[in-house]
Amino acid sequence: MERTLTKGDRLWSTLMEMACIGAIAEDGCCRLSLTDEDRRARDLFARWCRDAGCVLRVDPFGNMFAIRPGLRNDAPAILVGSHLDTQPHGGRFDGVLGVLAGLEILRALNDAGIKTEHPIAVVNWTNEEGVRFKPGLTGSKGFIGALDKAAIEGAGGADYFSELSRIGYAGQRLLDFEALAYYELHIEQGPVLELAKAPVGIVEGVQGVRWFEIEFHGQDAHAGTTPMDGRSDSFMAAASLALRLREGAISLEKNIRFTVGRVEVSPNSQNTVPGSTRLHIDVRHGSSPVLDAFERLMVEVISEVEAQENVRVGIRQTMGVAPVDFDHTCRERLWKCARALGLEPVSLQSGAMHDASSLATSLPTAMLFVQSRDGISHNPLEWSDPDHIATACEILAQAVLLHAGAPL
Ligand SMILES: [Zn+2]
Repeated sequence: MERTLTKGDRLWSTLMEMACIGAIAEDGCCRLSLTDEDRRARDLFARWCRDAGCVLRVDPFGNMFAIRPGLRNDAPAILVGSHLDTQPHGGRFDGVLGVLAGLEILRALNDAGIKTEHPIAVVNWTNEEGVRFKPGLTGSKGFIGALDKAAIEGAGGADYFSELSRIGYAGQRLLDFEALAYYELHIEQGPVLELAKAPVGIVEGVQGVRWFEIEFHGQDAHAGTTPMDGRSDSFMAAASLALRLREGAISLEKNIRFTVGRVEVSPNSQNTVPGSTRLHIDVRHGSSPVLDAFERLMVEVISEVEAQENVRVGIRQTMGVAPVDFDHTCRERLWKCARALGLEPVSLQSGAMHDASSLATSLPTAMLFVQSRDGISHNPLEWSDPDHIATACEILAQAVLLHAGAPL
């Protein structure tokens, strides 16, 4: 890139300075939400934002908004952000990049003396990772009014709102501005961009997720005395179902994700044919009709397995999150800005949930991914190339500027 608005080296050194807070071995970070490390990260971010001339607001969920006023202050704001909290054995980029890229945009607009019609607000959403408090995406869900405060559970008895007060980030008031759109830059956390040799990708949407518990009821029996053809073996039925569903899922749609991540076998004794087995299934795809088709297939295969393996099977759905489609116009804006910089990004789905998943249900929202080395995240080895980060930040800045409207 020739002349850019944003400065990649400044963003990089800001990222590295933030990474010193909660630093762990092998260049990792541990900044669990609402801990002292989180407070120090928030304090540093707040200082940087004030230095950039922003007004800082905190809402009742502890979300931080650094607002750069617009020429029309009654105009709704463009939000740009992500999260500063990390996993316990996390890296330096997941979430942090999206917040600090937002800050870099504000600094760059200041340097260039550019005023925008709409205000721009850089956001740090609270507890995206969901490690210390469940559910995750707490701040972004709270912001859009999709979270019951009483439903937040803290690990080891920690109380979300007491912890917010303790670290000094309990906002009392609802915000006095409206939002027009939300943009988030995030590391990909998967291998698609690296395989495509593309520094950045524009995210079409976020996969939907459905969880099922499948109970197989057979009969406990002696492993030595019960002939093979007289058994009612719940585990063999479960294993057969798992393999057939994997095959069936792939033939439905190659981009589906089907996982059996947990199996409970009872009585779990080596010399007993198990009478009861429970499978925990996680299935994901970007389209609800594909997920519906998977469910129909599952019911069909279960009745075949019941007949063939002489067991009874019960199905229970334990969780469901609908797929998210990001806003067409905001995505087009990112494409246009990427092409203006001579880039042809890859279009991809997000396999992970993000704050943008929450925001997309109430605001025009778009996401940009930057390539992750080896697709690794939630790990100190997490890494994105400084040049790729600089490119992604510049695309984001141009798109936000276009949306926020700068007078000629
Ligand atoms: Zn993240």
